[in-house]
Amino acid sequence: MRLTVIGSTALDSIETPFGKKEDILGGSATYASLSASFFVPVNIISVVGTDFPKKYIRMFKKRDINTSGLEVKERRTFRWKAKYNYDLSYAETLGTELNVFEGFRPVIPPKVSPKDNLLLANIDPHLQSFIFHQIKPAGLVACDTMNLWIEHSKKELLKLLKKVDLFLLNDAEARQLSGENNLFEAARYIADKGTKMIVIKKGEHGALFFSKGLGFIVPAYLLETINDPTGAGDTFAGGMLGYLSSRRKITDRVLRKALVYGSIMASFAVERFSADGLLKTKSKDIKNRYEHFEKLTRF
Ligand code: AMP
Repeated sequence: MRLTVIGSTALDSIETPFGKKEDILGGSATYASLSASFFVPVNIISVVGTDFPKKYIRMFKKRDINTSGLEVKERRTFRWKAKYNYDLSYAETLGTELNVFEGFRPVIPPKVSPKDNLLLANIDPHLQSFIFHQIKPAGLVACDTMNLWIEHSKKELLKLLKKVDLFLLNDAEARQLSGENNLFEAARYIADKGTKMIVIKKGEHGALFFSKGLGFIVPAYLLETINDPTGAGDTFAGGMLGYLSSRRKITDRVLRKALVYGSIMASFAVERFSADGLLKTKSKDIKNRYEHFEKLTRF
């Protein structure tokens, strides 16, 4: 099965306690697609400007990411500027330039089948919803978001939640969306909106999974070096959806493993700035971390 990923493709300017980089490769669709491509072939649906380096498009193609849905427009690429605090738990957005995303309404390429699983990675819920209705997906549909959209497009996001099978967000976003401090209550609020499975990501403390039949907690993979947490959530979502798409049937065991793969993939992303950690990763590194993860969590 293939996975279709929609979301942002960006040039980020990031400052963490460990360095400062300008106009580096970023975006929710970038991290999610790269992460998922370790498990299944991916279609990316996004847009960049003519200032987006061509080498990144070549890199996507090399990794079995179909770029026929990646439009290039005569405008500037989406840009995000952010600064992280010392414990890397919070990104302060210093600027968001939508640029090419303003009014973007893509034509879905023929290679994208409604049978593919769909990951609506973080972007304006109006656009997520537009693409959902264009594709009319028959497979598993997952959705991610962020504080900006909860603040400005909550109504559209809640409408979309009725249609998605799996919703991923971080703890602060879950509290913001639900108005509940307790994460159980926050998950219940989201479930009441119609989403069957919910993942609440908690940064270095791992992630919580809620559904009617299964509750599961996955730790974050313990690392000695973290340089840039940008994209951890998108990489988690890509790893999780990539693994689920590689399986014939979604059982409880498969869901648990998918969360573990999400956690492991995120660990590669945060070791280096931009997507450099993911680009350096080999399949055997994933296998090694999976085995180590099993040892660290068995009791
Ligand atoms: P994460 O660290 O997983 O929350 O995602 C960070 C990525 O999301 C960065 O590479 C940004 O380019 C991208 N991003 C930041 N703000 C937005 C936004 N409002 N819409 C879509 N993508 C965004």
